[in-house]
Amino acid sequence: MSFSNLGLSDKVLAAVAAAGYTQPTPIQEQAIPHVLARRDVLGIAQTGTGKTAAFVLPMLTLLEKGRARARMPRTLILEPTRELAAQVKENFDKYGAGQKLNVALLIGGVSFGEQDAKLIRGVDVLIATPGRLLDHTERGGLLLTGVELLVIDEADRMLDMGFIPDIERICKLVPFTRQTLFFTATMPNEIRRVTETFLHNPQKVEVSRPATTASTVTQLVVGTGREAHQKREVLRQLIRSAQDLKNAIIFCNRKRDVAILHKSLVKHGFGAVALHGDMDQTARMAALEQFRKGEMPLLVASDVAARGLDIPDVSHVFNFDVPHHPDDYVHRIGRTGRAGRLGTAISLVAPADEKSLAAIEKLTGQDIPRSTEFAKVNDDAAHEPSEERQSRSRRGRGRQHQQDKPSAKPRNGTSGSGKRAPTSAPALPPSIGRPPVQREPSEPADHSHLPAFLLRPIRARA
Ligand code: AMP
Repeated sequence: MSFSNLGLSDKVLAAVAAAGYTQPTPIQEQAIPHVLARRDVLGIAQTGTGKTAAFVLPMLTLLEKGRARARMPRTLILEPTRELAAQVKENFDKYGAGQKLNVALLIGGVSFGEQDAKLIRGVDVLIATPGRLLDHTERGGLLLTGVELLVIDEADRMLDMGFIPDIERICKLVPFTRQTLFFTATMPNEIRRVTETFLHNPQKVEVSRPATTASTVTQLVVGTGREAHQKREVLRQLIRSAQDLKNAIIFCNRKRDVAILHKSLVKHGFGAVALHGDMDQTARMAALEQFRKGEMPLLVASDVAARGLDIPDVSHVFNFDVPHHPDDYVHRIGRTGRAGRLGTAISLVAPADEKSLAAIEKLTGQDIPRSTEFAKVNDDAAHEPSEERQSRSRRGRGRQHQQDKPSAKPRNGTSGSGKRAPTSAPALPPSIGRPPVQREPSEPADHSHLPAFLLRPIRARA
């Protein structure tokens, strides 16, 4: 199947060719003809499947006819986070470069005045987070009665973030006759109820089971002590010893821990940035950009902040904490091993995490190999550097704020100085510059690239 058989316009086909895509992904192949036929679509697909282009490309084709009116957007896309909203806008900029469309973002952290000015000019595509969108409609600056097409993206994440009541309100503000495209990775009951209420005879398209992990990702569990500083020590050792670590996302369950871990890594000389919900928009975007460009090889993130981000070519994912929801594990490790590349996902498991780990293994139907090699580190790491303890207790006194401004340059390898380094080389082991080996997606996971010591005492789970 080629893109030219899907019914897309010549302009859009040219943009796709310019992007270098030769074949539609399964979700694109299945969804695009229905979108162009003006059907409602229920898409069950994870990020990484090409689902953004599955709605952006046909929308661009449909939008070639018609014009926007002041304060009345023609199409509306709802995203759970600002980063995802910005990412969708990038897709419109990329594929819609040949069209004169007005695409506006309504997200928190940007002034209302600026956003209002855009709405007055008339908007073809409005990409918004639910809260900010409702703020604008309540102020009277935005009318949703001209919306011809509504996209609800990452619906299960909207549910996790408590946005479903907002989504229901928004669905009632747009015309009953609009076309709706609804994307979710999983189908909990609450999401099913929303689709039954707001979609009209939808065409269901589903690609790959939501709870499957890619065979290109080598997974490993590393047992650690229960204390956070013990985990940090284990993490540092893992990062230093990984042979093919090019860049990594390190997930924590709580925003507070993202900030603590980020600060600790920087103190120990690693080139790291952080991403969590308490950071302002500019800092979040700057951090993400530094990570994307490879200026900072480590990104410490919370689930909400990192959900769905399109960061190509991540070699490693570390779960500093095991996620409480097994679905989040699948999403997290889906950040690596994309598009047939090799990836590694290592989870640090303290005794209290065993229950969450068991839930993950049940959901994915896989036993994850484990290493207990770090028992010694856990004992030794009881003696944490005192400065780290001090800075933690200092932070404990006030509301903690994330890094002031992500620096443009990574720091040098000396730990604990806290000063900016004169060099631009990230303070990571030399192995970090080496790209992961390519492997066919169908090949079984190969552990040979993991440090040998990690694999020695593997206990098979019953
Ligand atoms: P998404 O699932 O929308 O987050 O997309 C995941 C990645 O796949 C993005 O980096 C897209 O640029 C890329 N992508 C989208 N469509 C295609 C395609 N047809 N062929 C190759 N890559 C694609």
